[in-house]
Amino acid sequence: MLKRPRAVKPLSQEEADELVRKLRAERSGGENYRERSLKLHGWICAKCGREFEAHNLHLLSVHHKDGNHNNNPADGSNWENLCIYCHDDEHSRSLLGDYLQGDDRKR
Ligand SMILES: [Zn+2]
Ligand SMILES: [Zn+2]
Repeated sequence: MLKRPRAVKPLSQEEADELVRKLRAERSGGENYRERSLKLHGWICAKCGREFEAHNLHLLSVHHKDGNHNNNPADGSNWENLCIYCHDDEHSRSLLGDYLQGDDRKR
């Protein structure tokens, strides 16, 4: 008996492109400040000084110093680039503050 190829086919180039487009669109909405903050402050964690490159840049997040997600001054004065570990630390330490002001991350 002949072996049949598996029914699951790999993503075509077009499907892959479509997926990437969707992901980009989702990210660009409301996350433009991240791009700006990364440009302003560089790809480096403000706390531990860890430097990032394109392949692990997703581990670097933007923290709002005053906890207000909507406070996004163009000069970047309310932003701090923190790696996810320092960011977590920052938030667990000021849990009460976040609770009162509203967390700037979606959990
Ligand atoms: Zn860090
Ligand atoms: Zn934060």
